[in-house]
Amino acid sequence: MPELRQRLVDAARRMASEGLNKGTSGNLSVRAEENGISGYLITPTGISCDTLSSSDIVFMALHGVFGETPENGRKPSSEWRFHRDIYARRPEARAVLHAHSPFATALACLRRNIPPFHYMIARFGGDSVLCANYATFGTQALSDAALDALKDRTACLLANHGQLVFGQSPEHALALGVELETLCEQYWRACQLGEPTLLSAEEMRVILEKFSHYGQQSSQCSVCPPRSC
Ligand code: 13P
Ligand code: ZN
Repeated sequence: MPELRQRLVDAARRMASEGLNKGTSGNLSVRAEENGISGYLITPTGISCDTLSSSDIVFMALHGVFGETPENGRKPSSEWRFHRDIYARRPEARAVLHAHSPFATALACLRRNIPPFHYMIARFGGDSVLCANYATFGTQALSDAALDALKDRTACLLANHGQLVFGQSPEHALALGVELETLCEQYWRACQLGEPTLLSAEEMRVILEKFSHYGQQSSQCSVCPPRSC
């Protein structure tokens, strides 16, 4: 299996080929430990994934001094704060993806929560996907707003900005990012035709319960390479 840095690069490239990102927008990270230090590997700031290589990936300690230039001379994504805070506050998070995907971003520009118009909303842990309050990119205020909107959920929108999801591995986070973008497109299309009929709180409770044992729970997950998540 390719090493973790290469898997992060491959998944970052697929963010572009799956239509989630263009140019230097978006970023991806994975929880990691190096030299006994707990942290995460993250894509560098301002580098398009077309030219990204595994030597550009930055290791960041979870607890420690920030602002130092890492060994490879690359600065981490400007959004390292929300990546760090998700790993610190959500122990189940093993990979974090942020994208400016078109449909999620369009809804985020309306500052809309995505209601239970489709049962797959439950995929992200709740009966809606919330839109975090607006804050400037790369700030602690944005991280705080995102963590609030992620309460009891694994995805949120970022107002006037894009989407944020976390999962079990880079490949899993990518699959969730694609799923959220698909739901945003479906919601947008349904809204073109009228007012979508929403599922009831009771129906969403049923779905959330079904999702707790849906899929191949006893073996590996369906989107990750063997033994990777
Ligand atoms: P970075 O290039 O610093 O990761 O920034 C992209 C982005 O999407 C900021 O929100
Ligand atoms: Zn962004």
